Amino acid sequence: MTTPPPMVSGRDIGKFFRSADGRVVPALDGVSLTVHEGEFACVVGPSGCGKSTLLRILGGLIEPSAGSVARHPGQPPVPATAFVFQDFAVLPWLTVRANAAFGLRMAGVRRRDAERAADAWLRRMELAEFADGYPEQLSGGMRQRLALARAFTTGSPVLLMDEPLGSLDPQTRRLMQEQLLALWQEERKTVVLVTHSLDEALLLGDRVLVMSARPGRITEELTVPFPRPRDPGIQDGPEFGRLRARLWDRLRGELSVGAR
Ligand code: ADP
Ligand code: MG
Repeated sequence: MTTPPPMVSGRDIGKFFRSADGRVVPALDGVSLTVHEGEFACVVGPSGCGKSTLLRILGGLIEPSAGSVARHPGQPPVPATAFVFQDFAVLPWLTVRANAAFGLRMAGVRRRDAERAADAWLRRMELAEFADGYPEQLSGGMRQRLALARAFTTGSPVLLMDEPLGSLDPQTRRLMQEQLLALWQEERKTVVLVTHSLDEALLLGDRVLVMSARPGRITEELTVPFPRPRDPGIQDGPEFGRLRARLWDRLRGELSVGAR
């Protein structure tokens, strides 16, 4: 089997920020990673370790202080609208349809074509009946589905997701995880997803990258052995529990470093 081409890669990425009182804060230190076409990579790590910073650098929203992000020949840059954020999910002043079409409109696609593509994704996300309404009329779970619809509507082969399910209640979150699993299996996008949830990473990911406390570094890479298509029922099996324990062991070490 040949390895699919790399779609997202960074080498020796470092990032410093300057805090309000002028101190230099190292957020990332020497992070290298390559995500191949059609791969679902998950990033877990303690709060504040630089996960969002890494994702923004990979997407070209901010520049690294050191190292580089590869632009692979023939592959378009990731449009900013192919990001899914936990908080900044949707634009409240636009209708649901216009939100879903937003990425394509920003890319210069004609309204009619953008809205047709948006409507198709709204149907798949079971939001079609709300297309003419506004985001405030949607529940939290629906709003996250809208954010996903917007990202998928862009047609970007790469999706970058920063805790996209982080603000949902546990039951809605579990349903959304299953929906995302099924969706990925149909679409085979290249995904980098940041999450706090080890279960989410193991359920969805082909590979889990564990980051250290700040400055973030990748300290462990785990290849998830479950075959595709995956049944969400794997979460109740012994192998899942064993892998979760291994990831938790790694992560716990980093949490105590951060707390010292
Ligand atoms: P995570 O997503 O893993 O919680 P972040 O990438 O958001 O972590 O942040 C990593 C570190 O960088 C934190 O200490 C945060 O306070 C700092 N940081 C992030 N963005 C900025 C910024 N724009 N200016 C200053 N410090 C920042
Ligand atoms: Mg973050």
